[in-house]
This record gives sequence, structure tokens and C-alpha cells, in this order.
Amino acid sequence: MATKKKKRPSPTPKVPLTEGITPASAFDNALVQFNRAAKIIKLTPDQVAVIREPRRIVECKLPVRMDDGSIHAFKGYRVQHNIARGPAKGGVRFHPDVSLDEVKALAFWMTFKCATIGIPMGGGKGGVIVDPTRLSKGELERLSRRYFAEMIELFGPDRDVPAPDVNTNPQVMAWFMDTYSMHHGGDYLPAVVTGKPLEIGGSVGRSSATAQGMVFCVRRAAAHLGLSLSGATVAIQGFGNAGSFAAKLLREQGCKIVAISDVSGAFTHKDGIDPDVAIAHVEKHKTLAGFHRVKGVERLADPMKLLELPVDILIPAALENQITGKNAGRIKAKVVAECANGPCTPEADDILEKKRVFVIPDILCNAGGVAVSYLEWVQNRMGYYWRYQRVLEDLEHMMNTAFDTVLKTALQHDVPLRTAAFIVSIERVARASELRGLYA
Ligand code: NAD
Repeated sequence: MATKKKKRPSPTPKVPLTEGITPASAFDNALVQFNRAAKIIKLTPDQVAVIREPRRIVECKLPVRMDDGSIHAFKGYRVQHNIARGPAKGGVRFHPDVSLDEVKALAFWMTFKCATIGIPMGGGKGGVIVDPTRLSKGELERLSRRYFAEMIELFGPDRDVPAPDVNTNPQVMAWFMDTYSMHHGGDYLPAVVTGKPLEIGGSVGRSSATAQGMVFCVRRAAAHLGLSLSGATVAIQGFGNAGSFAAKLLREQGCKIVAISDVSGAFTHKDGIDPDVAIAHVEKHKTLAGFHRVKGVERLADPMKLLELPVDILIPAALENQITGKNAGRIKAKVVAECANGPCTPEADDILEKKRVFVIPDILCNAGGVAVSYLEWVQNRMGYYWRYQRVLEDLEHMMNTAFDTVLKTALQHDVPLRTAAFIVSIERVARASELRGLYA
């Protein structure tokens, strides 16, 4: 008698939207942010048409042989938003909620992020609709290689250079690089992707770069606001690459991390969470689930309430659309430092501005990741690798220069930092387009 095969859960599940969050189009939100700045600098309709919309959108079917012999067809995207200032640059996200709208928004923000910190790169982003926690390592490798192979003509050190994003990591970048190399006669071609493991051409300081860049911004913001970081309280939503390094590095600045969260829940400790203990917990258990068993740690019944805690600094480091018109009025933090991309909707921005919350926008605050990705790309092309101190000094210089330029622009136009960052970056992209004749 034939044994009945156990049905395997789909690797592309529909994840219910977080309760209380209004589903908003991330790309529409991005366009509102753009329009606010474009109006101030009086961009012409021709300039708007060239700069605002994505340059290229690719959607691919990605058939992958699963371990049980079946074939699952995943869906993947790559969007190149703008390449006026350099090759498209931006991560690849593996997540069940990935959509074309989201990838377009993320690619759009990359264009203006690269321009804000002044690196010679454009904007791109990719994504695959998948829950990678439901894949074996072999399935994940086959999916990663299939994604890169299907889009191979788009990528290249002078064309489009991906990097890690949510649920992708240095190992996935290593498979991307190897797939690209295989399609080019087996040569060693590391500059096609950044965020690689150190052993195959990664840069020292890349894994902590996003959080490190945020810390440089927070230090500047604190000096501007007269806020002491020693003893300042911090809540962090998201405890992956960006969030966990944010906890570690802010604690080194003397801050007290009173709340952290991830997909499994939110946890608080009134005397401060030790980031090393939380990181060790995630290394062992994959998520923060069960972290409330650590002495003094409590679990919040509603994880979204982490955003509303009475802290000095709030760090969204998970996904888009977390602070909206619905909960922005209840935010009590003095500073919101956006490690995540697009965590605040324009409606939330307006409320936070009225409440005089100092929001350090994503296209400035989390630009440290792409800044060190750029340094990795430069090192790959030179074949000469720098010490950590040199990378850190370059990152600090880029972040501080960008922060000061954006703050000065904000004060000059009497606008929030987000609009100021868009003013600075749109002007740079517009000038590059004009010089290249892309309005022709
Ligand atoms: P990651 O996959 O390493 O971590 C994501 C974290 O968010 C995980 O801890 C996950 O559990 C948590 N999370 C997911 N949904 C959540 C929810 N609803 N509530 C609370 N936590 C939730 O990803 P990452 O690289 O740290 O990226 C996080 C954010 O930072 C993203 O918006 C990403 O685009 C942005 N970012 C990352 C980099 C980088 O270099 N990694 C650079 C710039 C911006």
C-alpha cells in the first residue's frame, strides 16, 4: 500500500498584515516624499518625468527543484530606478510580502540615498516572494542562483551591483557572485555584488556599517539637540543585521537599550537589555522567541507598543509602514532614527513634525550600509584591501558630511530632515542627468 505523502507548507505563504497597520503603497509614499522636495526646488515637469520613475523593471519566474523532487515557481523582481550618477546599487530581499510596489519604492530610495551621501552610484533593488525559513540550505542556494542567472544581463560591476537586504546575507551574496562568475567563463569577478564574506572579497566593517552609520547620525543629532547619549533610553524594532548592531553600538555610546523586538515579539527590560545576551539568544534559537525567560526581561503583549514607549531614541529596523497616521500621535521618542527603509508614512511624518520629533530619515540614517558597500566595490576593483580603521574613518567622514549638509538645508528651507535630504539628493541627480543630456 502506498504511504500518504505529508503535505509540505508552502514556501510562499500569505502573511497577514500586522494588526493596526494601514496597508499603504510604499511607492506612493516615496512619491509624496519626492514631490514635497521637488516643489521647493521647482523641478520642471521634464525633470520630474526623468528622475521620479524607475528606469527598468524586470519580473521573473524562478522555477526551483525542491528537495522532495517537486518544482516550485517563485516570483522575483529587479528594479533599476536611476543610473545617472553610477551603476544601480541596492539589496535583494527574500520575504513573503515582497511586491513590485515595494521593490520600486526601495529602488527609488536607493537612488536618493546614494546621492545624499555622495557616492557615485544609482538606485536599484530586488526581491523574491519567499519565506526562506521554509527552505533547506540546498533549496535556498538553488533559488539564489536561479534569481541571479535569470537576471544575469542586468548585473555587472558597471551596471547593477546588488547587496544583502532583509533575509539575505553574505552566503547568498557568495552564491550570487559565483553564479555571475560561472556565466563569465569562471573568472573571479567579486565587484558584481557587495556584502560578501571577507574570504571572497568582502570588506571589513560591512556587516556593522548600516548601524554604525546610524550611530554617527545619532551622535550629530544629539549634539544638535543638546541630548546626552550617556544614559539615553533606546527602543529598537527589528533585531536582524541592522537592529542587533544598532543595539550593540548604541550601548557602546552609553545608551540604555530598554526594548527590542523581532518577528517573534517585543521584549523590555527597565534596567537595560544586554545586546550580547540577545544576540547569543538569536544565534541559538534563530529569533528572540523565549527571550522573556532571561532575568528582568518582560514580553510586551502587543509588539507594536514598542514604538510608543517613552524613550529618548526610537530605532525602526524592520520593515516599511510601521509608523503611520494611526500610531504616530502616540510616539513619545525625541529622536526617530530610521535604520529601516520607509518605516514612516508621509501622514506619520506630518504628525511627528508637529510633535517636534527629530526624524533622521532612512535615505540619510541607514546610508552607512551602501557607503561601505561602495568601499567594498572600490577595494574589489583595486584588488587592495583596507584595514578596519580606514573603512571606519571613510564611513564617518561620509556620514558626518551628509548629515551636516542635510541639516543645513533643513534649517535654510525650514523643512524636516527628510525633505531636506530629498532636496540635496534630487539636485545632485538632476545635475548629473542634465550634464549627461538625459533630458534630451
Ligand atoms: P534582517 O533580515 O537581518 O532583519 C530583519 C529583522 O526584522 C528581523 O529581526 C525580523 O525578525 C524583524 N522583523 C520582521 N518583521 C517584523 C515585525 N513586524 N516586527 C518586528 N520585527 C520584525 O534585515 P536587515 O538587513 O537588518 O534590514 C532591516 C531593515 O533595514 C530593512 O528595512 C532594510 O531594508 C534596512 N536596511 C538594511 C541594510 C543592511 O545593510 N542590512 C542597509 C540599509 C537599510
